Order: sequence, then structure tokens, then C-alpha cells
Amino acid sequence: FTPDRIRNFSIIAHIDHGKTTLSTKLLSLTGTLPEKIYGKQYLDKLQVEKERGITVKAQTCTMIYRNKEDGKDYLLNLIDTPGHVDFNYEVSRSLMACQGALLVVDAVQGVQAQTMANFYLALDAGLEVIPVINKIDLPTADVNRVKQELKDVFGFHPDDCVLVSAKTGIGIKDILPAVIERIPPPSSEGIKKTFKGLLFDSWFDRFRGVICLVKVVDGQIKRGEQIVAAGSGQVYEVFDCGIMHPEQKTTGALYTGQVGYITPGMKTSKEARVGDTFYIKDHPVEPLPGFQPAKQMVFAGVYPVDSLDYNPLKDSFEKLMLTDSSISISKENSVALGMGFRCGFLGLLHMDVVLQRLEQEYGQIVIATPPTVPYRCLLTSGEEKIISNPAEYPTPDVLDRTFEPMVKGFIVLPTEHFGAIVKLCMDSRGIQQNHETLEGGRIRLTFSFPLAEIVTDFYDNLKRVSSGYASLDYEDNGYAESDVVKVRILLNGEEVDSLSAIVHRSKAQNFARSLVKRLKNVVERQMFQVNIQAAAGGDILSRETISAMRKDVTAKCYGGDITRRRKLLDKQKEGKKRMKSMGCVELSQEGFLKLMKSS
Ligand code: GDP
Repeated sequence: FTPDRIRNFSIIAHIDHGKTTLSTKLLSLTGTLPEKIYGKQYLDKLQVEKERGITVKAQTCTMIYRNKEDGKDYLLNLIDTPGHVDFNYEVSRSLMACQGALLVVDAVQGVQAQTMANFYLALDAGLEVIPVINKIDLPTADVNRVKQELKDVFGFHPDDCVLVSAKTGIGIKDILPAVIERIPPPSSEGIKKTFKGLLFDSWFDRFRGVICLVKVVDGQIKRGEQIVAAGSGQVYEVFDCGIMHPEQKTTGALYTGQVGYITPGMKTSKEARVGDTFYIKDHPVEPLPGFQPAKQMVFAGVYPVDSLDYNPLKDSFEKLMLTDSSISISKENSVALGMGFRCGFLGLLHMDVVLQRLEQEYGQIVIATPPTVPYRCLLTSGEEKIISNPAEYPTPDVLDRTFEPMVKGFIVLPTEHFGAIVKLCMDSRGIQQNHETLEGGRIRLTFSFPLAEIVTDFYDNLKRVSSGYASLDYEDNGYAESDVVKVRILLNGEEVDSLSAIVHRSKAQNFARSLVKRLKNVVERQMFQVNIQAAAGGDILSRETISAMRKDVTAKCYGGDITRRRKLLDKQKEGKKRMKSMGCVELSQEGFLKLMKSS
């Protein structure tokens, strides 16, 4: 296949608009999917993805398609992209390998926040975008309104929209001819040049080791050749290469414009740095512009429920990180929870997915502390520190100023929820920056938010106040100075490190009150009085007490004589005093779990 008969494209969509259904349909139309697994939505491989109905890891597939127009066979590379707000990083890296994209829009819901975010990512990557209106079989589908919207928002000509139902198959046959006709083939300039490949995805296979997905930009690569990863200078041998059809199918060589896999015998997927350039040993080339590595924006402590399980948890993390290199972990110790890890995730959904994978794929049930964002702390000494664990937040005497990460949030909402959503945004310390009216009684708002507000329960609240109709997308927007305080939780004067939190001063009081109340419900009653306090600096923001349990030691003495009863009671009092002076209360892990669930 010469480049003029290759097309590399992605499908981009807001979640639930039908990307997976459409991909599956295209694969079965081209006979790429064997009959027996057809319908199981092959592209969503990971178990969690299936359950949550989201694609986390981009899966790529090659189809061979005979074009009716010229009777020729084409090699079509479908590069799948995840569709969720946390995963822009994965989306942009997949787009780098394409020349075009199908923008799938639900015929009922119309343009949503991630439709826009994905469209702009595709535009930035210089792709030819084909609008596809899906679910036209639904009785409530409003194709004309959505066409108008696509015109107003992105400038598409209504005649350019492909109308389909991925479910029933209506219109599906029009898609691939449009791909061939409208999406440009990869450049053929490099055919005669020496090999240059873009590494755009990788994963770990239990049997074959690290598998790299590459796009051949120039030249060709054959099995047995020695290649160099430009980033590290490391030399590898190409043990195998081929196309994804739909699993690895060996071809022994990959040519200019093709997308396929290479198994280079790397030990860990960390060596496969996405965005890196491969070239033939002794034939160096100018590396392709790399792109930004994944940035962890949400951190949490992750602990085994049983502290004996620390090593098994560590093993599981290491295995999981072979398939997901966007997680970071470091060792962490907590007085209450024992030994565990401080983990960095791309976002909240990513954190959820990772914890769920730990449980489902590795049988690790863990306790996670509330998520926090990385703060930049400027110390009075002039030193700067990034703090992603509240327990390590500098004390006021050495801290000069703190900066918190900001995001630019885009919300698409129906007009009738405007008031409630603006209020929610303001309560989340949002500052409105833009307001656009869209077709179909909808509005697109742009707000600047502290990321910390978004990672708590903003997304759930947004769905709640809009009955599920509003959608959110956000992008990194640097750091801004912020007036935050560390709220510490004390049980009888002892700090529970894993419950410390960094909170904006305006919210500290409410935060403290609610946490202390919830704690009161989960801390077990003791033989002595328990004081629960939340403090910021030297101030106590909130307190509750749990009165001592009075075990009736006399109950056993039926009748008994009065002096014996008295003696026992006195003894009990003494015991109470002694325990009180020891003063320490343990928050059991079970209590901690209950507390996390009650939030
Ligand atoms: P994704 O999140 O974009 O990958 O969306 P999915 O492909 O998982 O589809 C989301 C839901 O929409 C699923 O329940 C699909 O069965 C349904 N769906 C997808 N395409 C169509 C369609 O053309 N018509 C109808 N009625 N439902 C569809």
C-alpha cells in the first residue's frame, strides 16, 4: 500500500454519543472483526472500560476496504481515542498519528462540551474533520437542529454532515467513502528517506513485552533492524512488526504512512516515551516535535486495608503501571493507615478507574484518602516546593505564599439551568469569563476555576442541578496565588495525619464542621471521653465530643452486697482516668472507610 491508498483517522465524540458503537460497526463492515466477537464492542478491551462504558486506553485498528469508486483496496487505520474530560492527553497523542477525524454528534443531544474540546484538539492537530450525526433512528432525533448547530459552532456546511445510526446501520456505508475522499492521505514525500517513526502509544503484553504503536513518517522499517529511541539514545532490535488487524498481525515491515506495532524488547513501558522518534541505528534523523508528558493533577494516599498487604499492593501497582504509564507513585507513611503510597492521577475519573482496576484485576482492596491537587508553596527561605500531600504542607512560620492550580472550564448547558449552574460555579470559586448562546436554547459558559474545586464534587453537582444535561470540559490554566489553610483533625489532641486537608480559607469553617460531624458518627465510643477537633493554625474551627461508654461492671453482681458494687464502680472511675491520660484514640481503618463513604 502506497501512501495515497492509506488513510489515518480518529473518531472523536462526547461521551455516549456512539463512538464505540460506530467503531465496532466499521470494523465489522470491513470484515476486520471475526464474526464471533462481533457485537462485544471489541475496542473496549479493559474490563473497567466495559463496565463504565468508557474507553480509557486508545485502541488502534487497521481495516482493509475496497472502494466502490475506483475498485481499489485501501488501508484504513482507525485510531481510537478516549472521550473523557480527564484524558485529553490521550486524545491529543492519538490525533498526532492522523490526518483526519470523524466528529460524532448525537442527533438528540447535539453539540456538548467534549464535542467542542475534541474538535479544537483536532483543529490544533491540523486534521480534516468530517461531522457525523449519529442516532438518527431515535424518534427524538432532530437532525436539522444539529446540522444548524454544527454550522454555527464550527462552520460546517450542512451538506457535509454524514447522517448515520451506528446501532441500526443506516448510513454507515457512506462513512468510509467520505473518509477516503475527504481525508488527505499521509505525506508520501518521505518514501525514499531513511526511517523515521513516531511512537504514539504503548502498552505491556504479558507474552510479548512492550508493544509500541508507531506511525511511519518516512521510509520503512523491517523485522530484525536496529532502531534507536531518539529521546534516550537507547538501541533496540525490532523483534516483530505489523498491523493491528484487529490484534497484532505480523507483516514483517511497515512503510511510509502506515500505522502499526513494533515489539522492540523494552523492559518496561516507561522506556516507550510517547511522542518519541525512532530511527535506524547509525542513521539519525531530526526528531519529531515531542509533546507534553502526562501531567498528574490529582493526588491521593492509597493504602492497603490490611497493612500486611503493602508488598502485594506494591507489586500490583508496578504491574498496573506497565499498562498505564500516566500514574505516579511514591511511598507514604501515615500514622492512622500505616504504609502506603501517594499516587498521582490525571484527574478524578482516572483515579476511579485505577482504584477499580486494582480491585478487579489485582484483587487489591484499598483505602484512598480524599484527593488533593498539587500546591506550589513559596517558603520564606525563597525555596519553592510542590506539595501534593497535605501532611507535608509547610507550617505558617516558614510559608510565604501558596499558589494553586487553575483550570479553564467550559460548560454547555440548557438555558433553563442557567441560574443554578452559575450559582454552583460561583460557590466553587469560579470566575465567569465568557458566555455564548448556542443553537437549540443552550449556552456555553467559560469559567476560571481552581482545580481543587473541580476535583471534589463539582462534576456530580453539575449533573445534579442540570438533571444530567450540562456537560463540562476543562483545560490547564496555570497557577494562581491563593489563600489556603491546612485544616488538621485532632482526636484527643493527637493529629490524624491522613485526614489533614488543604482548604481555601473561605471554606475552611464549613469543611471543618462537616468533617467533624461525620467523624463523630464513625469514631467508636471508648471507655473515656473523645474530643474531636478541627484546627487551622492555632484556631479550633469546630469540635464535637463523644461521651465515655459506661460499661456497667456491676451488672454481673446480681444483688450482691452494696460495698462490692461501690468498689467496682470506683475501680472503673480510676480506669477511666488512666485511659484519659493516655489520651489516644485510634481511628480504625473501618472507621476511615465509613468516613470516606459518608462524604
Ligand atoms: P461512546 O461513549 O461514544 O463510545 O458511546 P457508545 O458507542 O458506548 O454508545 C452510547 C450509547 O448509545 C449505547 O447505549 C449505544 O447502544 C447507544 N447508541 C449508539 N449509537 C446509537 C444509534 O445510532 N442509535 C441509538 N438508538 N443508540 C445508539
